[in-house]
Amino acid sequence: SITDQGGGRISSLSADSHKDLNRRSNIDKKMLTALDHNSFEVVYQPQLDIASDKVKVYEALVRWEDAELGHINPEELIPIAEENGLIHAVGAYVIEEAAKLAVKLTAEKPDISISVNTSVREFGNSSQMKDKLTGILQETMCPPDKIQLEITEKFAFQAEQEQSIISQMKALQDTGISFILDDFGTGYASFRYMQNLPISKVKIDRVFISSLLTMPKTRQLVEGMILFSKSMGLYVIAEGVETEEQFEALKEMGVDAVQGYFIGTPKKGTEIV
Ligand code: C2E
Ligand code: MG
Ligand code: MG
Ligand code: MG
Repeated sequence: SITDQGGGRISSLSADSHKDLNRRSNIDKKMLTALDHNSFEVVYQPQLDIASDKVKVYEALVRWEDAELGHINPEELIPIAEENGLIHAVGAYVIEEAAKLAVKLTAEKPDISISVNTSVREFGNSSQMKDKLTGILQETMCPPDKIQLEITEKFAFQAEQEQSIISQMKALQDTGISFILDDFGTGYASFRYMQNLPISKVKIDRVFISSLLTMPKTRQLVEGMILFSKSMGLYVIAEGVETEEQFEALKEMGVDAVQGYFIGTPKKGTEIV
């Protein structure tokens, strides 16, 4: 048993981690029912295309509000879903919502598409993601070019180890779906992925944007990332843009699109249509 070594510090730490474990286990236990009972929701954050000065993409972000557990953010729920296997159902739910919204938006805003975050687990080990996505697009009658998939560098790292993931990505790309490398710059071997994976856009992580104007080195880094990406023919997005100063600086540096609270916060689908 854990002894208190003075000041009650150890016992309070262990009480905290017990609380964490308990919350984690409750999230795990409640997830399936929450999915079945429509307690999940998807919100959409606008992305402004600089050249046209128009919002052309919305990023789908999953939300879950529980009466007892409160707000469960994606950074908390996705890793648990990856572990208990419900990531397939969560992912399917988000893609289906996104596809339905994309279809609804088409009449009034024909050039809008929706980007969906995906976990490498969703690709399974043969053609799981390809089948799931193709099926949802057929059911919702959503054209494939209305959906983009965001992958992280962790995803990219694993994708490179598994040919079935790369072949699913390529098959999906052939149908018109494009891939975005999210959180660009935070991983450890970003450049290699550009060579081996069918990525057409990169999204510079918000850690770089938040210190863009305060740290000269960050500015140089971001300039480098933009130059490099553009020379690879990639479309460059900056995320986490919170101020007008950041927005102007990024525009001047040549990014193709910006996303962040300065442009717009995530909103319910009903508020966009
Ligand atoms: P991400 O894909 O990098 O998404 C951007 C996150 O930054 C979102 O948090 C968004 O609400 C937040 N954000 C947007 N603009 C700003 C800003 O100006 N300032 C700051 N400080 N934050 C901003 P959220 O919704 O909590 O999502 C966190 C992460 O969870 C996402 O990061 C994504 O990796 C993951 N995620 C979200 N939804 C899904 C999903 O449906 N499936 C999967 N696999 N992952 C998801
Ligand atoms: Mg994302
Ligand atoms: Mg991101
Ligand atoms: Mg991020």
